Amino acid sequence: MVQQVKVYSTPICPWCKKTKQFLDKNGIPYQSFDVASDKAALDEMVSSSKQLSVPVVDINGDILVGFDEEWLRQKLNLPQEEKKVEAIKTPANKCTSGTCAQMDEIKQAVAALRMSKYKCNVCGYVYDPELGDPDRGVKPGTPFDETPDDWVCPVCGSAKSKFDRIEEV
Ligand SMILES: [Zn+2]
Repeated sequence: MVQQVKVYSTPICPWCKKTKQFLDKNGIPYQSFDVASDKAALDEMVSSSKQLSVPVVDINGDILVGFDEEWLRQKLNLPQEEKKVEAIKTPANKCTSGTCAQMDEIKQAVAALRMSKYKCNVCGYVYDPELGDPDRGVKPGTPFDETPDDWVCPVCGSAKSKFDRIEEV
């Protein structure tokens, strides 16, 4: 089975480098996304991993946050190394705010993303997270992603899948 490996990272995060070095060293091909500059990739990373730390590794849909050699070896069917004296998994093997200079930018981008408006492709109704849809129990301040799955367009009744995010210009 062909493995689809994706790595979401920022350019200066040391654990991102470790992750890529590990994959390179083991000859594993992967797609690399820079979430500091690629908003679509950031969006994808946040929706698959539900969080903001990097790196995030996606192997055929299985999500790893941070660098974890043992997990990677297992998922990639690489032999596990002899037990090292140094623990493989440490609590600090990912970059969050403070250890990664770009995290603040990322957080801002995510905040903006979360408050994006969405437009119904069928009737043109625009969902504004700041307003929500109180008539249907969606509180003001609810990002589109967090509206109930069965929420529909208040104007034409189309499902959420008919909505597209409006890019702020
Ligand atoms: Zn509609």
